[in-house]
Amino acid sequence: MHFTGASGAALSVLVFLAGLAVGSFLNVVIYRLPREGLSVTRPRRSFCPVCRNRIPWHDNIPVLSWIALRGRCRSCRSPISFRYPLVELLCGTLALSLFAVEGLSLRFACFYYFSITLTAVAFIDLELMVIPDLLVWPTYLLGFLCAGLSPSPLTSGLYLWERLLSDGWAPAVISLGGAAAGFVLGFLSLYAASKAYRLWRGREGLGDGDPPLLGLIGSFLGWTAVYPVLLLSSLIGLLAVFAMLFAGKGLPASGKVGAAPIPFGPFLALAALIWMFYGEAVKGWYFALLGA
Ligand SMILES: [Zn+2]
Repeated sequence: MHFTGASGAALSVLVFLAGLAVGSFLNVVIYRLPREGLSVTRPRRSFCPVCRNRIPWHDNIPVLSWIALRGRCRSCRSPISFRYPLVELLCGTLALSLFAVEGLSLRFACFYYFSITLTAVAFIDLELMVIPDLLVWPTYLLGFLCAGLSPSPLTSGLYLWERLLSDGWAPAVISLGGAAAGFVLGFLSLYAASKAYRLWRGREGLGDGDPPLLGLIGSFLGWTAVYPVLLLSSLIGLLAVFAMLFAGKGLPASGKVGAAPIPFGPFLALAALIWMFYGEAVKGWYFALLGA
């Protein structure tokens, strides 16, 4: 359902504010989920990770509290990571952008969940080099559910979609097929790459969580998105490595590039989000280039 005019604008503000609140919760997930002895629901109140003091509600307002406190804990004055307002702003912006494309719909709900899952995976992998199974595996079900209940040519690719539709196939079946193919292609591609790397170099080149993550991306964005996302994430990764070298950071003591492990999850997640919003535009541009 799409809204226009004053009601649309008011709803957009509400969606953005709700997105900020989701971001606030996601910060809790990002901090607690990968840490042993902490659960997402207990303790119920947020606490400062340094002094362990409870954070009162008025110091826990998305973005605004961080600015008001100038990025420091009220009790112990230790710095609060810029990640907190960043995640909140990201979740708000993602909600607003998806709302503009999908309106209030099942696809909005599913793809928003997918987006914030990618956001959590990216920040956890960046900090701790792990991708929690709990974030990835249950989210597959949502991807398949969305493909089946809200069929889209995106998951199968427009060409197959039109051909199979004209052959009398049900939209849900084509869409689900595209999502399943995306899962298999994404998972197997990175799984094979990681096995090949281990045979070649005798050590791990990819995290255990990377193949399931690309599978997850394939199950939401369809099999046609798997290789563009992989290519885009590698490009972003290369740019990040160059930027780190340029800044003089990230160079291990040996001075050899490639010796220090770099998490791949954040690049995959970022590439998937870019492809989700701009994939169709990039495809149109690419085919226009081929035709010219
Ligand atoms: Zn503190």
